[in-house]
Amino acid sequence: MNIILFGPPGAGKGTQSKYLVKKLNAFQISTGDLLREEINKNSDIGKAIINHMNDGIFVSDEIVNKLIENFVFDPQKKNKLIFDGYPRSLSQARNLEEILKKSNQNIDLILFLNVDKETIIKRIEKRKIIENRSDDDSDTIVRRYDTYMRTTQPVLNFYSKNPNFKEIDGNLEIDEITRKIDTFVNV
Ligand code: AMP
Repeated sequence: MNIILFGPPGAGKGTQSKYLVKKLNAFQISTGDLLREEINKNSDIGKAIINHMNDGIFVSDEIVNKLIENFVFDPQKKNKLIFDGYPRSLSQARNLEEILKKSNQNIDLILFLNVDKETIIKRIEKRKIIENRSDDDSDTIVRRYDTYMRTTQPVLNFYSKNPNFKEIDGNLEIDEITRKIDTFVNV
């Protein structure tokens, strides 16, 4: 099964992706994690994106599209892809369709974790204490949420017409969200 987890920062995509990875013996593709890795390695990509990341602004489609390609074309990961934080723009969504088609794959499930701004602010402030992420200060949180909502609205419209699109109340507790997800993932 290939699954897209969709939802604003703090909606619980990372947590639920990790659950799905275990359950399905699958592979998480978190573009946020991949980008943070580039920064930690101080690679050319890392140097080019550090300011965007710290300011909560989206990194260019070209860079993220390139980062996910290796996963999609890896035969061992075929039909075992959990997308966490990608696609986030219409151009990324189109790119994904194209490379999945090229590799003979589909999206089997699109999970939209829909969550209020207030819940997100509370969650990210908690995570800030636990993980100490540099892009987690309050101003950045609001900026990331607003950027996400503005940029991803067209992506949401694009996917909401798909019969595999499922909306889940992301304000629920983690376990409750997992239980809802389980009803869509039957193995
Ligand atoms: P995340 O860990 O998913 O919340 O992502 C953290 C930051 O990484 C975002 O605020 C963006 O700056 C960048 N980022 C992650 N995924 C993408 C993506 N698909 N497209 C553009 N920027 C991204």
